[in-house]
Amino acid sequence: MTKPSVAFLGLGIMGGGMANRLLGAGFPLAVYNRNADKAKPLATAGAKVAASPEAAAAGADIIISMLADDIAARAIWLGENGALAGAKPGAILIECSTITPDWIKEFNVEAKKKNCELLEAPVTGTKPHAAAGELTFLVGGSTDTLEKARPVLAVMSKAIAHVGPIGSGALVKLLNNVLCAVQAVSFAEALALIEKSGLDRAKTLEILTQGTPGSPLVKTMATRMTVRDYTPNFALKLMAKDVGYAHAMGKAHGVDFKTAAAALDVFKNALGQNLGEQDFSSVIEPLRKK
Ligand code: NAP
Repeated sequence: MTKPSVAFLGLGIMGGGMANRLLGAGFPLAVYNRNADKAKPLATAGAKVAASPEAAAAGADIIISMLADDIAARAIWLGENGALAGAKPGAILIECSTITPDWIKEFNVEAKKKNCELLEAPVTGTKPHAAAGELTFLVGGSTDTLEKARPVLAVMSKAIAHVGPIGSGALVKLLNNVLCAVQAVSFAEALALIEKSGLDRAKTLEILTQGTPGSPLVKTMATRMTVRDYTPNFALKLMAKDVGYAHAMGKAHGVDFKTAAAALDVFKNALGQNLGEQDFSSVIEPLRKK
């Protein structure tokens, strides 16, 4: 059976790996990235590189995006030479970026005007999972559309969770990340205290990571913060963005998300110290310097 043609927009840390999976699985692939250099490895591997989101989307059966935030997604889908203008009626649009429920709902209205079907499919997992096709998709949208898109999503994932209508995927993803962010900040503060107080760091970390507080996230933070390896799997500026979005969602629903506000403060301080492009585990560095 002929495979559907796919357009992939946004070839950053996550999008690059995801697009590569699609290419490896034999989907005809057109790609676009604002900074064209990031498309070069995919071009070498056989993808068609488009000069605009609109050109990438033209004729594609499925159009996927993996972009930084609401601003980037709006620009790529609805901006000048945007992908929606190039999408054919009946195309399936899959928005994988971590964005706000408000934006994805607004985009759904625009997609319907073009007779396109929209799924939101933000992901859990990070750089290695994207490269290995081991992400988990948190899908919002109709079951029918999901079933049509499933073969494409399957190539990039180990699990596909259908969480509800459009907007649900974005909110579940923001909750996932705010819980990670709060743990990361709380662990960073604990580690700074361990180091400053002169406790035996290795022994203390073994107790904490092997005990009840030792979540997968805390274990990863313990390793990265100890060796100070901040090569970005997930950039600190993007985690700060997610905590901000989650905090705003809490506010909109009358939930005073105090732990999110506290974590956001610590992330903003790290952003002010030029750590935005580093992995979010670098959030400990300003605490070490204090
Ligand atoms: P990234 O490496 O920083 O890539 C961001 C992408 O967005 C790049 O293609 C970038 O283009 C594009 N972009 C940013 N601002 C833009 C704008 N104004 N106009 C057009 N394009 C713009 O980020 P990532 O780590 O791949 O993350 C992508 C998304 O996945 C984010 O929403 C993030 O929160 C989410 N996510 C990330 C992880 C992770 O572990 N990394 C895990 C789960 C979810 P340029 O290359 O031209 O800058």
